[in-house]
Amino acid sequence: MLSTMQDVPLTVTRILHHGMTIHGKSQVTTWTGEPEPHRVTFAEIGARATRLANALRDELGVDGDQRVATLMWNNSAHVEAYLAIPSMGAVLHTLNLRLPPEQLAWIVNHADDKVVIVNGSLLPLLVPLLPHLPSIEHIVVCGPGDRSGLAGVAPRVHEYEELIADRPTTYDWPELDERQAAAMCYTSGTTGDPKGVVYSHRSIYLHSMQVNMTESMGLTDKDTTLVVVPQFHVNAWGLPHATFMSGVNMLMPDRFLQPAPLADMIERERPTHAAAVPTIWQGLLAEVTANPRDLTSMANVTIGGAACPPSLMEAYDKLGVRLCHAWGMTETSPLGTMAHPPAGLSDEEQWPYRVTQGRFPAGVEARLVGPGGERLPWDGESAGELEVRGPWIAAAYYGGADGEHLRPEDKFSEDGWLKTGDVGVISTDGFLTLTDRAKDVIKSGGEWISSVELENALMAHPDVAEAAVVAVPDEKWGERPLATVVLKEGAAETDYEALKSFLAESGIAKWQLPERWSVIDAVPKTSVGKFDKKVIRKQYAEGELDVTQL
Ligand code: ADP
Repeated sequence: MLSTMQDVPLTVTRILHHGMTIHGKSQVTTWTGEPEPHRVTFAEIGARATRLANALRDELGVDGDQRVATLMWNNSAHVEAYLAIPSMGAVLHTLNLRLPPEQLAWIVNHADDKVVIVNGSLLPLLVPLLPHLPSIEHIVVCGPGDRSGLAGVAPRVHEYEELIADRPTTYDWPELDERQAAAMCYTSGTTGDPKGVVYSHRSIYLHSMQVNMTESMGLTDKDTTLVVVPQFHVNAWGLPHATFMSGVNMLMPDRFLQPAPLADMIERERPTHAAAVPTIWQGLLAEVTANPRDLTSMANVTIGGAACPPSLMEAYDKLGVRLCHAWGMTETSPLGTMAHPPAGLSDEEQWPYRVTQGRFPAGVEARLVGPGGERLPWDGESAGELEVRGPWIAAAYYGGADGEHLRPEDKFSEDGWLKTGDVGVISTDGFLTLTDRAKDVIKSGGEWISSVELENALMAHPDVAEAAVVAVPDEKWGERPLATVVLKEGAAETDYEALKSFLAESGIAKWQLPERWSVIDAVPKTSVGKFDKKVIRKQYAEGELDVTQL
């Protein structure tokens, strides 16, 4: 029997229309570095997005599912692009402005982008690449920045504000199939070539609803969220769509992502929520320790993208800011888990849950797979690779304009689940604890050592600002851990024996303790601010690190 229910497609267009009407008074505030930030309401964003869609179609000839790229910071114009481009049936392609230029060019060509909307301040990045980007026919420049480099370039150049001025504020939005492509995002290529994940209208819609659930970020129109996670990093974790659905105000940092301006904007604009990777929160903590600011408005923070050291959570607890750990990937839209403890527990009882990666929402099914492909139980002990499936989880990667979508065997199981490459355990009540990425885990004499566990324990030491542990080859054991540490300013001279004893005292088994140590100035970071262990392994292999062996 078929249901009797209406079959209304779940589209970004509906999110746009809902936000601009029902939540027309909610605001997007963009930091400008000037005395006053830039403020615009959802109603205005909606009207401007509509004018942008008219301009893209009538002036630039964007048609069908052509790709329109953005090379932008987090700001209100970027939100307009987020809503306009998918709603007209085209595909939004957010470009990661921190990628090496050759990777960026590879991605633009692979996606066959026709238009790029670029912030003026990012032109020095784009202009030298243009000779290698034959598919780009139009450049739309938005916001402050020197335009002189654009003289004589091949694509046509437009000014964003001029382009959308005087366009109609209505658009005959097409009735789209909800399974159609809405947006695409390439993985940051931490391992190998970047891979394109193509989100559908439906996946974005359902993911936005999940983000808005109380068991996830649970924000309403009384909230303001500080969106530090870049709009090019998995759609800023879905926040621009989710906020438009429930009228949550957004505070956008634009290019002011250093700890000092972030602390200033929190003190001044008093967001109630924020989202960013751990390195941002480490930096902000150092800033407010040196120059105290009031962060107390920000009662809830979503932290993810890399493991959050428990010591960081504790430090923020003391500032009245509660970090809630979340796990996800570009392939999972990204919301995969969030670590809200179950009901009825004291603070102390909540702690072991808070330091896990969290619990799966109804839309994400999970299973653990052992080395021989066997299913492992959820007993909090059996460690295996995490596989997931659900309506906002990727089933394939973009295969290029003429190619079929790709389903590499190491990323997708035969029965269609995503192989995450993350290794961990799941408790009987469904909380995930990741021990490592499969490629980062240290295989010592047939046993596994978790690099993340060692890092978390090291970062709890009062002299240690950051620590990254990688596997290095060892004649006897196959692999052993190398601990690289960044000391806090003013820390005493390094005593590796003392650090090793500290690890032992914090419960690390004796055979897991590193014997190779190195103090470094900073942990190398990836384009989205995660520890880049690939670089440390290479530095070690090439003898660039000053290593002490105990
Ligand atoms: P990339 O793979 O290029 O780093 P993604 O942002 O898609 O880009 O990274 C997803 C990966 O980040 C996950 O597979 C996992 O290894 C890691 N990750 C994300 N959130 C967490 C977390 N809370 N704890 C530990 N690792 C995490």
